[in-house]
Amino acid sequence: MATLHLQNISKHYDQVIAVHDLSLEIHSGELLVLVGPSGCGKSTTLRLIAGLEDLTSGSIQINGAEVSQLPPKDRDIAMVFQNYALYPHMTVAANLGFSLKMKKTPRSEINTRVRHTAQILNIEELLDRKPGQLSGGQMQRVAVGRAMIRDPAVFLFDEPLSNLDAKLRLSTRDELQQLHQRLQATMVYVTHDQVEALTLGDRIAVMHEGKLQQLATPREVYDRPANTFVASFMGSPGMNLIPADEFPTTIKKAVTLGIRPEDIQFTDDQQGHTFAINSVQQTGADTWVRGQLGTTEITIRTPATFEKRTGTTTCILLPQERMCYFDAEGARMETP
Ligand code: ADP
Ligand code: MG
Repeated sequence: MATLHLQNISKHYDQVIAVHDLSLEIHSGELLVLVGPSGCGKSTTLRLIAGLEDLTSGSIQINGAEVSQLPPKDRDIAMVFQNYALYPHMTVAANLGFSLKMKKTPRSEINTRVRHTAQILNIEELLDRKPGQLSGGQMQRVAVGRAMIRDPAVFLFDEPLSNLDAKLRLSTRDELQQLHQRLQATMVYVTHDQVEALTLGDRIAVMHEGKLQQLATPREVYDRPANTFVASFMGSPGMNLIPADEFPTTIKKAVTLGIRPEDIQFTDDQQGHTFAINSVQQTGADTWVRGQLGTTEITIRTPATFEKRTGTTTCILLPQERMCYFDAEGARMETP
């Protein structure tokens, strides 16, 4: 177990600022998810932590000790890459034991630890195969095992589920969560998938264009997004953002109102806001209704029993207590 502190880290590639002045304190035993759209600097951040890239500025500490000048092998960090990066000519057993062999660990101890790791990950029957003879899900397990066997201070995962099909992604996500609980290890997990972030993270760090947008628990990020970017990025579909001037009587300083698609209710009461239905999409479990609220198109998530048709007009309620308020810069305001 270890703490990991990133202090004002930046990484510039010529004109590109991949990571800008990022500070994060990751607690011992915490699973922190770094989430954001493609190109926002997630992989670069992991590579900086691992020592695969040099910092432009800032510092990185593990358990309070500066590591940013250390080569990767001396940082006590194990990384699981998106493409798994297994050695194709080695068996699974040799892949798992490779780092221990490099450290001149005795043969018998390597064998014991390889077997133990394979047992935990349920891949004992694969030990004699080569990566070319494995499915995507099996390769993913071997890659996790190769990190686990080193018993590192910090685990780094770079989109480890993105090459798996949808069903396997769900079950593997579940297994990773259980593995984290079992190992109680400090982990930084990168994904562009906001659902993965919300389900896996003890806390979530949302990034956009190299900058940290919000660091908070999944609940907090979802219910109280720090700004309009986080509001619309997190959630599927994202939070509805409505110009305040659609509601001339109610709002004082807020420029934008935010409300989650599932928080809006349909009503027959003419007191509600007029809503013209543009489209109705069944997703199985529920229905997404898109339509006009004044000049703004919004999405409402409603039970699958919804019966109204495209082209008709109805009324909706926007509960005040579920509303978020944002200022002219897009930052969330405590009160409107
Ligand atoms: P993410 O993992 O969030 O998709 P990356 O960290 O890979 O994003 O990239 C962040 C930004 O830095 C992107 O604009 C990318 O093009 C740029 N970048 C990453 N690596 C390099 C590099 N070696 N040289 C130049 N630009 C890079
Ligand atoms: Mg990446």
